[in-house]
Amino acid sequence: MTLTTLRQSYQNGETTPAKVIESLAAGIAERDGSTGAYLSHDLERALKAAEEADLSKPLGGLPIAIKDNINTLGQPCTCGSKFLETAYTAPYDATVIRKLKEAGAIPFGRMNMDEFAMGSATENSALQLTRNPHDPDRIAGGSSGGSAAAVADGTAIAALGSDTGGSIRQPASHCGVVGLKPTYGRVSRYGLVAFASSLDQIGPLTRSVDDAALILQATAGHDPRDTTSLNVPVPDFSAGINDGVEGMKLGIPAEYFGEGIHPGVRDNVEKAIKSLEAKGATIIPISLPYTSYAVATYYVIAPAEASSNLSRFDGIRYGNRAANPADIIDVYHQSRENGFGPEVKRRIILGTYVLSSGYYDAFYTRAQKVRQLITRDFKRAFETVDAIISPVTPTPARKIGSCPDDPLQDYLSDVFTIAANLSGIPAISVPCGTTSFDGAAALPVGIQILAPHLGEQTLLRVAKAAEHI
Ligand code: GLN
Repeated sequence: MTLTTLRQSYQNGETTPAKVIESLAAGIAERDGSTGAYLSHDLERALKAAEEADLSKPLGGLPIAIKDNINTLGQPCTCGSKFLETAYTAPYDATVIRKLKEAGAIPFGRMNMDEFAMGSATENSALQLTRNPHDPDRIAGGSSGGSAAAVADGTAIAALGSDTGGSIRQPASHCGVVGLKPTYGRVSRYGLVAFASSLDQIGPLTRSVDDAALILQATAGHDPRDTTSLNVPVPDFSAGINDGVEGMKLGIPAEYFGEGIHPGVRDNVEKAIKSLEAKGATIIPISLPYTSYAVATYYVIAPAEASSNLSRFDGIRYGNRAANPADIIDVYHQSRENGFGPEVKRRIILGTYVLSSGYYDAFYTRAQKVRQLITRDFKRAFETVDAIISPVTPTPARKIGSCPDDPLQDYLSDVFTIAANLSGIPAISVPCGTTSFDGAAALPVGIQILAPHLGEQTLLRVAKAAEHI
């Protein structure tokens, strides 16, 4: 079921929120042992919320699974890290959670993720492995791998994730669900544990484009508690969603269809483009010349911001404290040494390096300049097209444990998703078919749609036209 059909069933009296929560819990008990999407779920709390649900509200009684880096009052918020596994219970609701609750939704389930959202496979979770429901030997993608896997597996109906360089869209693509990263500032980050604050954005992973619009509607809007939150009106995201692509101009960037794309991905995306054309869109070849610098730029800016954001995890303000430290410096040293996993340490070291005096201008300042050039590429393109179409990832989901020893190889898998974060524009991943890959018969492939700043209505309209083609 989707949120939309479930809401209908509530209205027709065919089922109740409590029955739905119970059946999700049964699904988790039955299947999640092998999928590993859930880190925890508080059944009692959810059932209580279900009893009190107000079905007249937009998301009345609808359960939504939450990535484990979004604070939800009274619940764990581990960020997939040993550092926070036992040491932290959220003392407040993130703004998105407050808004979901106000819209009647029931947050249910804490979803596995790469530690502090650093990764593309959920293999960097320090707590457990998440498997792709389409093939248990494969990654679910990441970092919102738990959210995507549960929605694909039917153990969740919809979920929230966070996207700093692709972490909603990439797992959505690998698991065959819809994943939306809103415009930077559209949805409040208050209560999201920060990874790279100038890139992070919370968004939905759902079974349909309509559901993504519903969750965006409930969570968007200005929040004085997030200084980067945009003070702009929130339009009706479902209005016009069915208007189709007739007369729209869709740009196809040459740089996104070059070397290294698996033919099954290319064929499915090209087939989807053809059918959008058949539905009345004009297809226009475009160029985004700075695309090839996006990954390098991201891997300077994101670790720089992470190294600063993660300084709060020191065993004193946050996180498990070392047991027998020699002195105060040793508290920091041992707590961080034991608390963080290898990828998080790598990012902190990288970030500290690029921010250090003498290197700051050569790396960080230069990366900020290139970020402007990447943003300018998009601005120029959107002078002639309404939206841009591309693949989400170069290949379908790889096998678990097959990550190359060189982390740079894995970083390159985000080549198509990162530019949207650097320039702040909205982007969505929609399933567009399946392909055989590396011994697997049929793995999901996603198509990415990118729209101008605050262009979510256009984005959703194209996404709806691209759904089920
Ligand atoms: N895979 C990217 C990284 O490891 C993006 C992660 C994300 O969007 N949170 O940083």
